[in-house]
Amino acid sequence: MQRTEDGQIVKLADYRPTDFVLLGVDMTLRLFEGHTDVMTVLAFERREGVAIDAPLGLDGDGLILDSIALDGEILSPARYDATPDALVVRELPANGPFELRLENRIAPEENTELMGLYRSNGIWCTQCEAEGFRRITYFPDRPDVLAPYRVRIEAEKAVAPVLLSNGNPIETGELPEGRHYAVWDDPFKKPSYLFAVVAGDLDALHDSFVTTSGRTVALGVYTEKGRAPQAAYAMDALKRSMAWDERRFGREYDLDVFNVVAIADFNMGAMENKGLNVFNHKYVLLDQDLATDGDYAGVETVIAHEYFHNWTGNRITCRDWFQLCLKEGLTVYRDQEFSADERERTVQRIASVRRLKAHQFPEDQGPLQHPVRPAEYREINNFYTATVYDKGAEVVRMIATLLGETDFRAGMDLYFERHDGDAATIEDFIACFEEAGGLDLSQFSLWYAQAGTPTLTVTESWDPEQRQHTVSLRQSLARGAAGTGTEPMVVPVRFGLVGGNGEDRHAESEVSGAARLKGDLIVLSGGDATITFTGLSDRPYLSVLRDFSAPVMLDHEQSEAERLALGRLDPNLFNRWRALDDLIAEGLTLAARRPLGDGQPALKDAIVDALLATAGDDEIDPAFRAQALTLPAETDIARQLRDNVDPDRVHQVADAARAAIGTRGLASFERLSAERATTEPFSPDAASVGRRALANAALAYRCAATGDPAAALAQYQAASNMTDRLGALAILAHRFSGDDASRSALDDFYRRFEHDDLVLDKWFALQATAPTHDAVETVERLANHPRFTMRNPNRVRTVVGSFAAVNQVAFHRPDGAGYRWVADKLAALDRINPQIAARIATTFRAWRSFEPGRRAKLKETLRQISEIKGLSKDLKDIVDRSRK
Ligand code: ZN
Repeated sequence: MQRTEDGQIVKLADYRPTDFVLLGVDMTLRLFEGHTDVMTVLAFERREGVAIDAPLGLDGDGLILDSIALDGEILSPARYDATPDALVVRELPANGPFELRLENRIAPEENTELMGLYRSNGIWCTQCEAEGFRRITYFPDRPDVLAPYRVRIEAEKAVAPVLLSNGNPIETGELPEGRHYAVWDDPFKKPSYLFAVVAGDLDALHDSFVTTSGRTVALGVYTEKGRAPQAAYAMDALKRSMAWDERRFGREYDLDVFNVVAIADFNMGAMENKGLNVFNHKYVLLDQDLATDGDYAGVETVIAHEYFHNWTGNRITCRDWFQLCLKEGLTVYRDQEFSADERERTVQRIASVRRLKAHQFPEDQGPLQHPVRPAEYREINNFYTATVYDKGAEVVRMIATLLGETDFRAGMDLYFERHDGDAATIEDFIACFEEAGGLDLSQFSLWYAQAGTPTLTVTESWDPEQRQHTVSLRQSLARGAAGTGTEPMVVPVRFGLVGGNGEDRHAESEVSGAARLKGDLIVLSGGDATITFTGLSDRPYLSVLRDFSAPVMLDHEQSEAERLALGRLDPNLFNRWRALDDLIAEGLTLAARRPLGDGQPALKDAIVDALLATAGDDEIDPAFRAQALTLPAETDIARQLRDNVDPDRVHQVADAARAAIGTRGLASFERLSAERATTEPFSPDAASVGRRALANAALAYRCAATGDPAAALAQYQAASNMTDRLGALAILAHRFSGDDASRSALDDFYRRFEHDDLVLDKWFALQATAPTHDAVETVERLANHPRFTMRNPNRVRTVVGSFAAVNQVAFHRPDGAGYRWVADKLAALDRINPQIAARIATTFRAWRSFEPGRRAKLKETLRQISEIKGLSKDLKDIVDRSRK
């Protein structure tokens, strides 16, 4: 069922509560081959003060009503209107509760959008966020309608021995004709988007967890047949998440059971349904020989994230979808804190900031810009964005920074205490921190309303006579596509004055302008402020925006020598990394602006030497050194160029830099890539991960310098784990694309791993992202490969999605062939799964920043997509906004 109508604009300002209060939900789902019969009993009560003739309106999406009864009596057709999208019932009882009983039939087998009830490899499963429940039954499908649910599932026992839903299991039994049933009861009031049902022939890994207050929770991770052992790390991550939330936030789990199900066909990463999380199996299943370190980290993060939603999302949910960041920003903040505590804080922070800059900054600076809390939308599915999630997390982090650890925890405690069981708003959330911290956050709240990345400009001047250092800060925010305000916000700037000995100096200070100084924090609240530090013996190095304390673009005029010094000395490790990373990014950006072949190196020797000093320093954590060796993403360089971008040029510059770094540090890279014993037994712990990351980075530089694939090929063949094998294969497939070594290794990889779809995705992705013009022909071949299918979101993402989002060279091929290919695929995909099509289409949004030839072709492609017949609401929304 495809909705092609334009759809209304939904506005935050139009929010009003429902006329009827939902008291309880009782559902029966009878699963058969080819169809499912749904019976829903809804108990309602008219809200006080609501007019006696007010009708009850329920949402539907592609439904056909088979029967409707009110308090046990079949309703006459004069009393209701049923369309696929809505059910309106009139003349309802004036007082007291009443019960509506609805019946309809759906076809999960035909559901390719993967919203509502669908089948994945034969398993019945549901996805209801944001508006999928209305594809199962007529319902007031909005997050502020909360109720307890009782769910009965019936199915043929041989096909679906496992029957799961939310809450606690209360009854099972046999039925005639080889069928059986299970009844689940969820006592916690929840919105419909957290509803879930799973049924199928599943295996499971079982374990248990004892909460602080001594309750035993039965844990289950369900997988397709034969794959339960691959859920061991997910189970371990789950138990660590449960313990962490108790320790760090005092949050205990509440039901008797907690289940996770791994599903092959899934639109997103995972879903936090109450007591029954449903996952993309990519974030559950790991096999030591088949998974990379990145895969382990992904499982750990997503398991933690969904589990943490039990409090931030489920126990306290959102009043409306505009408040999405209330659960998502906060839960990302929580999962980032978890990873920081479980692994290494600085390295985790570097990775998060890299992600923010790679995904959120471009979104915030382009046509799809929107505030962390949007004020309107056409299609809510298109607002599960880097801005809502990642910038949303940054805003929570700023609150934590402003309040300090103790007050922040007190604010969280108050939030949990005051709003447990509520559908809350950002205002509710903020009020808790105002109270706990005794401060006014009204200006701070602009972070939720104003879109765009502010620029923080920092200048300094040293007065040798007075021995004082003056630091000036200025913030500015350009109006972008969202058209929201540009008022100064509250910007917490963590800083230090670093002495030549690598220690922070203490100095007297005086503030003028709109800022406060609180220990190592400057809280800038107006357009500009100046701080004078006095009593210094000599000029310090200013280290600002430590740990990336605010999501801003930093424009800090500082000499190369000062930055190199900070890159060596800064006691704040994050800033030590950033000093070098900024120097490299600026060097590459400048080089990309110069014409090709001007003889100048992409990076100055002094910068390369500083990088090599870090990379070769065995005293420093290998994970940190690996991060230092990771150059800024080419898309990030392109964003900093702002206009007239030529992706080929950006790639050439980055590549030249890699070759230069590799050549200058060859001896060191040979040592680092060779000395790590590939025979070391595999362990996914952070220290081992860091060693592998460093060795693989070194191998890449080594091959960039020598132009010889031999070392990569040797590692590929000798590898005893997937991280090393894939690291080597990536070098072969990208740097030596088309060479015999590359081809034979890719063929070998296919033969070894073709039985495993998740590993096969890596094979598809590596080829789709090879930075060569002929990758357009490669993806066309891949799309015709027998193992390619538009039905599996992971497969589509690895071929079409990664080509469009990652492969800057081929997607932006000057003749426009990359654009045409993606547009073609989107037209086909949109008919199958519009959500995925819309997501992939966001890669066209940067069209304005390219040089005239590509700009014109991108613009024209967007126009062509907009004219596709029967375009989905999802894809149309993205394309319309991108073209503006
Ligand atoms: Zn989430």
